Amino acid sequence: MYVPPQLDHILIQAEQIRKRIEVLGDTITRDYTSSEAPLTCVVVLRGSILFAADLLRQLALPVRLVTIRASSYGAGTSSSGQVTVTPSEPVDFSHSPVLLIDDILDTGRTLQHLRQWAVEHHADSVKSCILLDKPSRREIPVKADYVGFTVPDAFVIGYGLDLNEEFRNLPYIGVLKPEFIP
Ligand code: 5GP
Ligand code: MG
Repeated sequence: MYVPPQLDHILIQAEQIRKRIEVLGDTITRDYTSSEAPLTCVVVLRGSILFAADLLRQLALPVRLVTIRASSYGAGTSSSGQVTVTPSEPVDFSHSPVLLIDDILDTGRTLQHLRQWAVEHHADSVKSCILLDKPSRREIPVKADYVGFTVPDAFVIGYGLDLNEEFRNLPYIGVLKPEFIP
């Protein structure tokens, strides 16, 4: 197995991720099974690509897929105040239920902004499914409806999460060595 030298240790193994996503997929399927409109899954690029690809295959439902970018001003490891949403194509949820899919819930700014954005674009309901939750870092009191794993306050990479755009391909989630934290 490929373990880059920047990694301190593996936090969540690929097999644990796979099993957890099966459970999340079953729960979400059950929760939306009586919905008349298809579920629109909004995937936040690029960090959520691997998670969404695995999760969507576990949904036994009519599903639509929308991709967006959400960027916060001020580069760095955590988001600053302002969040901009850029959809790949123009969106109108036309009163269908929306499920936001993101990699990690940190300060909460991105999720709070995305929820508002979905409502403004006529979502009928908005829920969120987040792979990793770092509750100790929260600045805005938002909660995800579905959470893969709760993690400690460490900089994590892999399974979609990057360090300067690298390491998104790792099949597991690992903690970076302190000297590499940007
Ligand atoms: P927030 O909840 O602070 O608005 O935004 C969370 C975003 O910050 C994530 O989508 C991700 O891009 C970035 N982020 C936060 N914590 C980490 C981390 O530990 N590793 C990586 N690679 N990105 C992180
Ligand atoms: Mg992100």
